[in-house]
Amino acid sequence: MTTAEKETRPLFIGGKWHRRAETFERRDPSQPDTVTGIYSAAGSADVDLAFAAAADAQPGWASTSAQTRSRILRDAAELIDASAASLARTLTADIGKAARDARAEVGRGAEILRYFAGEVLQANGETYPSTDPSTLLMTMSEPVGVVGVITPWNFPVAIPLWKLAPALVFGNAVVWKPATAASGSAIALAGIFEEAGLTPGVLNVITGSGGTLSQGITSAPTLQALTFTGSESTGLRLQSALADRTATLQLELGGKNPAIVLEDADLPDAALQVARGAMLATGQRCTATSRCFVQRSIASEFEQLLTEAVGRMRVGDPYDEETDIGPLASIEQLETVSRYLDMARGGHARVVCGGEAQGHEEGYFVEPTILTEVEPESPLLRDEIFGPVVCLVEVDGFEDGIRAANDTEFGLSTAVFTRDLGTALEFARRAEAGLVHINRETAGVEPHVPFGGLKGSSNKQREQGTAARAFFTNTKTIYMRPR
Ligand code: NAP
Repeated sequence: MTTAEKETRPLFIGGKWHRRAETFERRDPSQPDTVTGIYSAAGSADVDLAFAAAADAQPGWASTSAQTRSRILRDAAELIDASAASLARTLTADIGKAARDARAEVGRGAEILRYFAGEVLQANGETYPSTDPSTLLMTMSEPVGVVGVITPWNFPVAIPLWKLAPALVFGNAVVWKPATAASGSAIALAGIFEEAGLTPGVLNVITGSGGTLSQGITSAPTLQALTFTGSESTGLRLQSALADRTATLQLELGGKNPAIVLEDADLPDAALQVARGAMLATGQRCTATSRCFVQRSIASEFEQLLTEAVGRMRVGDPYDEETDIGPLASIEQLETVSRYLDMARGGHARVVCGGEAQGHEEGYFVEPTILTEVEPESPLLRDEIFGPVVCLVEVDGFEDGIRAANDTEFGLSTAVFTRDLGTALEFARRAEAGLVHINRETAGVEPHVPFGGLKGSSNKQREQGTAARAFFTNTKTIYMRPR
């Protein structure tokens, strides 16, 4: 670490940087001997300070013009582009994201800001015919006020920005609790918004443990809305904590995403898509493919093609531009994924390829793993593993495939591989998931369309696109009768 990096990174509250005596350190997932940063651990007093700063700043921010807010987002996007290389390197240091993917995510972050900079300039309400012809009847959307944002570590730039950008541009003030593992990029983003000229107090960033800070966030009197992406268990805990309040809650949770490969599919292409969906980002995407149902007649050919496609992926140093699959993000992730690999090798499945984790000292790497002949009731087919592991299961055809694909508590993303448009449309109608891909991997999100899951993957409040306005604003209905 350089001398500057050895310094404790501060919290960002009320437009000022605050160092705290209580700290935590993060290590590089690809070389765990290397400390990548020491961060201030916020306490409950900091949560209160952050909410007070947000509540003070919000009315002034809401009264600036939409054009001013739009411009600040555009300036932040420019700053992200200008610092893309170092921001991408921070992602790799924080969570081991492979360099190419990290750069792509940073670019995507800038695009999300630009999208919402435009979105705020769209229509802000509607007019309706009133039964009284002399009355102008209209709606207007207004900011909700102070918004809490809690984010996971797996997309440390894109996920925070698809929450922060609409929250801020529609005139809200934010208290953001980033994932501990993604603290480096969170501090970097706070600096970018500061440099872009965001009004002090409009964005407050408190690093530290979610378990410790959660109570202060959910009980903050000024909290009007809370947007959360993360695990199902944390999401449900937040839902309980807000049960006796009227603050709105947005939950985007886990997935156990299926792909169905039918015998009429373009098999080499389907194998490539499934390999990408399952293994890129080291399988740590909520939309990752983790169950693949293959029509029996082509099962052995597909297994061969998938094994070859996975075999072509390069696992290794995440700082190397050629690497496809880096390490898992943390030692906790390594322990979790290792438990499932032990289960597979212990008789729950046949290991087609991979199946092993590396020692801790060499980095939190696991081999990309294909499993087949999985015990029908095994947790391997039920739990979100969140690692580069895919289960191949033979099915009789479309009916059997869609029944098996829908047989999960989750409902985030899904895919079918077929050349038959009728089958594709039938699948789109019957798939129990918020996102449906035809002949595409299950992962992939664009900022201008609604994003979110069904069943246990979400509380059905959509993110991104025009849906974001619905969550981050309140609608007011106005009857105006001139006199
Ligand atoms: P997580 O453990 O639930 O953590 C998410 C965030 O919640 C982190 O900031 C975490 O802080 C915080 N947190 C932890 N315990 C908390 C508590 N008791 N109260 C309030 N906040 C708490 O999830 P993760 O491991 O970061 O992320 C992986 C999960 O996110 C997977 O299930 C994945 O599918 C899901 N995910 C879903 C989507 C989607 O859009 N549907 C997208 C990406 C990821 P700390 O870091 O300090 O623990």
